[in-house]
Amino acid sequence: MRALVTGCAGFIGSNLTEALLERGQDVVGVDCFNDNYARPQKLDNLAGAMDHRGFQFVPIDLARGDVHDLVSEVDVTFHLAAEPGVRASWGGRFETYVRNNILATQELLEAAKDWPDKRFVFASSSSVYGQAERFPTPETVLPQPYSPYGVTKLAAEHLCQMYHGNHGVDAVILRYFSAYGPRQRPDMAFHAFCRAALNGGPVTVFGDGLQTRDFTFVEDVVRATLAAAEAPDVAGLVINVGGGAQVSVNEALHVIEELSGRKLDVRYDARQSGDVRDTCADSTLARERLGLAPETDWHEGLRRQWEWMQTAR
Ligand code: NAD
Repeated sequence: MRALVTGCAGFIGSNLTEALLERGQDVVGVDCFNDNYARPQKLDNLAGAMDHRGFQFVPIDLARGDVHDLVSEVDVTFHLAAEPGVRASWGGRFETYVRNNILATQELLEAAKDWPDKRFVFASSSSVYGQAERFPTPETVLPQPYSPYGVTKLAAEHLCQMYHGNHGVDAVILRYFSAYGPRQRPDMAFHAFCRAALNGGPVTVFGDGLQTRDFTFVEDVVRATLAAAEAPDVAGLVINVGGGAQVSVNEALHVIEELSGRKLDVRYDARQSGDVRDTCADSTLARERLGLAPETDWHEGLRRQWEWMQTAR
């Protein structure tokens, strides 16, 4: 088996790449090292895979096209490359979101339509729900993105479904809910909180800290993504990938204080545009169609991220 992983130098993509290599699969990894965070962290993320003889790294920008050969060479595509993050998606940066989230996905799907029987797993986001109508949120509620990022991820979902409908591409869409764990992006909350616990300095919380997220440990995200590559009859489906616990930002801060033994200097600021109040996945479909449920308790997951942050320092 040979897999294409786009975004292989990123947080989730690098964890997925290593899991595939550990299972004995060959991986073609694509990443263009975009500038959403520093290249050294992405190089570190890739270091383990680079030493593996089953790994081939292709440093290209998917939005520039010419990905036909890549898709032709593999049995399955995991499309994780994207411009992630809600807050940065306003203003001038939106163009980059359109390029990396919509155009890059369209280029890959154009290639995938020539091999429609190959499974195409797309990493979407809970951000497509916006301020969700109900909790836990099933896949059937009307997506109403609340940020430009969410709009681009929803557009990419529609592209996947359109290529499935018109060309039979065996695409399955996963909506990840707030992933965390080793290699988490530096712009994400747990990373910023752990960094402050390590280095001192204030922590800014946007909002009152009572907002909640369905935090999902990266190994559970990877397990669901691998399962989606093999599950029967999921073409065209959208499936939530949640962590199974709704945790407030204040609760998470408290646990990081316990782990670090350091009182954090928390400063509350205004809610940021695009931030939603709560997220909570209905994981029924993931249980039924992927045959799995999240395994990692969030206290344990946060401890694992804290350990990683200490060694990565
Ligand atoms: P990340 O930024 O760490 O990884 C994405 C990688 O894609 C980066 O290394 C980047 O260089 C690469 N990339 C971007 N545009 C590219 C292009 N045009 N060509 C080639 N490479 C390109 O982000 P992440 O947190 O690992 O997110 C991975 C995927 O999961 C994304 O699709 C994101 O939207 C989705 N997602 C993430 C979360 C989360 O909590 N981290 C939640 C929901 C959805």
